[in-house]
Amino acid sequence: MFVHTLSPKIRRRLAVSLRRAFDAALPNTCRLCDDTAHSLVCTPCARDYWHDRNRQRCPACGITLAPGAGARRCGNCLAHPHAFDATVALQDYRAPLDRLILALKFRADLPLARDFGYRLSHALRPRIASPAALVVPVPLSPDRLATRGFNQTWEIARSVARHLRLASDPHVLHRVRQTAPQSGLDIAARRRNVRQAFAAGDEVRGREIIVVDDVMTTGVTLDEIAKTLKRQGAARVVNAVVLRTPPNN
Ligand SMILES: [Zn+2]
Ligand SMILES: [Zn+2]
Repeated sequence: MFVHTLSPKIRRRLAVSLRRAFDAALPNTCRLCDDTAHSLVCTPCARDYWHDRNRQRCPACGITLAPGAGARRCGNCLAHPHAFDATVALQDYRAPLDRLILALKFRADLPLARDFGYRLSHALRPRIASPAALVVPVPLSPDRLATRGFNQTWEIARSVARHLRLASDPHVLHRVRQTAPQSGLDIAARRRNVRQAFAAGDEVRGREIIVVDDVMTTGVTLDEIAKTLKRQGAARVVNAVVLRTPPNN
């Protein structure tokens, strides 16, 4: 009962502490190796697969650069600049991390979305320019949303926003027409497939927008989204993606 007399900030902290205590007391199994763990991914797996501090990525599109390339834009970004300004990616799309994305999307393993959001918030913090930035998910089509029951990118985006104390909105960016799945299409067909498929509300005008996606493959969809946001007056667009498909994959 006394909990109701506490300030919202203290109540939030209490809830987080209780959650951590429960998580620590009740071990689960690591989503990658099935060993007993006190977090979704055990410490050895996190060290082996998530943490890869020496990897340099193109600051614009997030692809892995050759060792020693520095933090410069990749050749592709220099030759064909994208509409987005920056991309933050946690890791390359590869085994076994790809299993985590599949578990989230197809087995509704929603705690993984919170974990991705937490990791992305750390990677994003130094790359965000404005405290008024708005976090938005890549929208699913209404049909896909109805089938799946949730949008995995919104589940990640709301976790990112909570950790960074930024505003978030699942409706400000939406699809205005159906698109075919991008997989299996070549890059020209991908561009045609998503052209003018999105619309954005007035809330984006003059703001920095963080666009959250689970996997970035060619970047065509995120480029089209960034064009849409900029047409609507967004000042800066930063992609935040969990896994980035390496080049020539
Ligand atoms: Zn493990
Ligand atoms: Zn690049």
